[in-house]
Amino acid sequence: MQVTRRLEFPAGHRLMNHEGGCKDLHGHNYAIEITVEGDKLDEVGRVIDFDVIRDLIYGWILDHWDHGFLLNRHDTEVITAIGPYCKAGKPYLMDSNPTAENIALELYRMASPVLASYPVRIVSVRVQEMEGCWATYLPPGR
Ligand SMILES: [Zn+2]
Repeated sequence: MQVTRRLEFPAGHRLMNHEGGCKDLHGHNYAIEITVEGDKLDEVGRVIDFDVIRDLIYGWILDHWDHGFLLNRHDTEVITAIGPYCKAGKPYLMDSNPTAENIALELYRMASPVLASYPVRIVSVRVQEMEGCWATYLPPGR
């Protein structure tokens, strides 16, 4: 049985070395969908409570990504320029460009240990940058 939780948050980013407009600072209303599966249901009839996913994943997103900037850690010029205007922990620095693909991978890396104490496996992590544009990360073995 699989369940999916959708969460949304606004954030800014830019893509270093992008050929078009994404090289400039801009933002998105991101939507993420995390799908997990379990082998059996609990006594209530759930794989995992939807609110548990929200509390664990969205809590982290609020602290690190929501109303912040996701930036490539090599983007020092922008980091220096906007750093003073960001709350603690923001901008969020990634080892690579904050594309939808890399954000999906980053979210999987964060969510895996967070959900490890529950009897579920992550099936997929999807990130929508804008309507109709999704990246999906499937863990190895899927
Ligand atoms: Zn963008």
